[in-house]
Amino acid sequence: MQPDFDKMDGLVPAIIQDSYTQKVLMLGFMNKEAYEKTLTTGKVTFYSRTKQRLWTKGETSGNFLEVVSIKSDCDNDTLLIQAHPTGPVCHTGTDTCWGEKNEQDIMFLKELQDFIDKRHEEMPEKSYTTSLFKSGVNKMAQKVGEEAVETIIEACNGTDERLIYEGADLLYHLIVLLTSKGYRIEDLARELKERHSESWKKH
Ligand code: AMP
Ligand code: ZN
Ligand code: ZN
Ligand code: ZN
Repeated sequence: MQPDFDKMDGLVPAIIQDSYTQKVLMLGFMNKEAYEKTLTTGKVTFYSRTKQRLWTKGETSGNFLEVVSIKSDCDNDTLLIQAHPTGPVCHTGTDTCWGEKNEQDIMFLKELQDFIDKRHEEMPEKSYTTSLFKSGVNKMAQKVGEEAVETIIEACNGTDERLIYEGADLLYHLIVLLTSKGYRIEDLARELKERHSESWKKH
């Protein structure tokens, strides 16, 4: 629903949150025009009170905020915009306006899962992921086995660097296998979470 600009004297605050890491990136204000431009372009546009004009974040730096979703709050006077930043968000060069780094590497797994889902839907030619999907479930399961063995070898007789490399291979191939069966890495997380809450109750 469109926020109530009249109630807010024309300017509504918009909290910008990274859609993957969930970090709050910055806060800006939108008038009706800025809100509508954000909707039509898919790039976050504010009304700058200091510049007194519409300001598309990234218009000079190239660090745009690509809109993922827009939500109005309970009483329709504050926006929560989930976005994908194409670079550091703050003009001081930091990732967020509170000097934080916008990294939570574990959240990249969700981004990777989304990407693999997209490959599964579109099956573009010349993609390694597509070739895995086309090879069938036995082949995909076999790849998981091979990468598990490679991970074991590196753990027992290899280098830490190789262990990380092969462990990453294992995780990627496991996600591909799950995706081919209509599941996602979150389904594994949910299972682990349930077990965790059960063991937590016991102790
Ligand atoms: P940009 O929108 O990234 O092209 O930056 C243009 C100008 O907007 C910068 O020189 C700053 O004055 C201002 N600016 C950019 N990012 C922010 C931010 N996160 N918070 C406040 N001002 C900003
Ligand atoms: Zn509110
Ligand atoms: Zn800033
Ligand atoms: Zn490997």
